[in-house]
Amino acid sequence: MSSRAYVGLGTNLGADLHATLTQAALRLAALPDTRVAALSSAWRSAPVDAGGPDFLNAVAALDTAVPALELLDALQVIELAYGRERPYRNAPRTLDLDLLLYGDLTLDTPRLTLPHPRLGQRAFVLRPLLEIAPELAHLATGEDWHAQRIERLGPLSL
Ligand code: AMP
Repeated sequence: MSSRAYVGLGTNLGADLHATLTQAALRLAALPDTRVAALSSAWRSAPVDAGGPDFLNAVAALDTAVPALELLDALQVIELAYGRERPYRNAPRTLDLDLLLYGDLTLDTPRLTLPHPRLGQRAFVLRPLLEIAPELAHLATGEDWHAQRIERLGPLSL
């Protein structure tokens, strides 16, 4: 059985942010029993709760048979492959992958919270998510996300 999952991708460190996003999306597409059903444009956003330069963000819709916790494991393996280090909380990061939604699963465990707890307040998640899944607009529960600086760049092709 396959579920529709949404993964948020973000990067703000490295020589070629666009290439990092594309390669990460390719890694998602290469997961077993998984296909990338949709991929948003690349969006450039101001850091929120994080330091460093602007981020490049995107959201991928996956149809996957990988269970949610195993998918989180796989996302963390991909993050590590990009040398993400965590010297301090919210440090700039080479690649950040968040599991935003996994079907209609709700979960509140130390390792995994679903839907992602900050999904509804962050323009860098909501703008690319609603670009590919406008039917999820009800998830935008925050009040100030419209004011967060973000712009759409070009499409990302795999
Ligand atoms: P961050 O540094 O913001 O990427 O947070 C990563 C930590 O959040 C990891 O330890 C995960 O176990 C935990 N976490 C909880 N829920 C989620 C989620 N929906 N997606 C990604 N990480 C999550």
